[in-house]
This record gives sequence, C-alpha cells and structure tokens, in this order.
Amino acid sequence: MTVSNTKNAKCLCGSVKIAASDINPKFTVCHCDTCRAWGSGPFFAVQCGTQVSFEGAEHITEYDSSPWACRAFCSKCGTHLYYRLKKTQSYNMPVGLFADMQDLVMEMQYFSDKRPDYYCFSNKSKEMTEAQIYAYFAADV
Ligand SMILES: [Zn+2]
Ligand SMILES: [Zn+2]
Repeated sequence: MTVSNTKNAKCLCGSVKIAASDINPKFTVCHCDTCRAWGSGPFFAVQCGTQVSFEGAEHITEYDSSPWACRAFCSKCGTHLYYRLKKTQSYNMPVGLFADMQDLVMEMQYFSDKRPDYYCFSNKSKEMTEAQIYAYFAADV
C-alpha cells in the first residue's frame, strides 16, 4: 500500500488549486533583492520537485524573473504561486500556501549577505552568500 503524501493548497481567491506530492519539509528562505521586492519580506519556499499539478491553470500568470527561473501568481487575486527553475522544471512554492504541513524545518537561508539589517531570525540554519551560491550553482552547470 502506498501512502499518499499529497499536500493541497490554493490561492486566496480559490481559482487556482495545487496538489504537490513530493514536498521537502526542510524549507529555504531567500533574502535576495528580487524575492524581497516580490513579497515584501524574504521568500519562505518549500521545494516541491516536479510532481505538482494545478486546477484552474488558466488563471496562472507566469513571467521570467531571471534567465534561469520564472515566477507565477494568480491573475485574479495576485497570490504568489511558485518560483520554477527552467533547467529542472522543479517548483519552489511559498510555504504559507500549505496549511497542513508538518515537521517544517528552516534548513537554509540564501543570499544571507543581502539580508537587510532591519530583521533577523533567531532560528539556526545554514546560510549561503551570493558569492557562495553562484560558485555552487555554476559548478552544477
Ligand atoms: Zn486567486
Ligand atoms: Zn530570492
């Protein structure tokens, strides 16, 4: 018997429904300028892999936020839906969309050197600076 780990989420207006079956509960936080402009604060993202399906996909607006990734939102209510890497097609989704997630752990903070000095977290987590991130992901190309 296979236990389904599918987690469901929806945008604020309910036009877009999401089912994700491969969520990593060790979430990441991104302090980069783009993420903070996008959502006012850092982006709390769970990695959802590629096993993600949508209902109401016609209400999703997607745009290129960088040469390597796109971001998407509900075109009716504006809820941020995902950041998707073009190379792997894997989704990073706002942790707050998933109401029933358990065992969440703040695993990593990206762009720690871009974090402004008006907030900080008391959680202990790994951190990577911009230079470390580019070095790490460039090695992966
Ligand atoms: Zn919506
Ligand atoms: Zn970011």
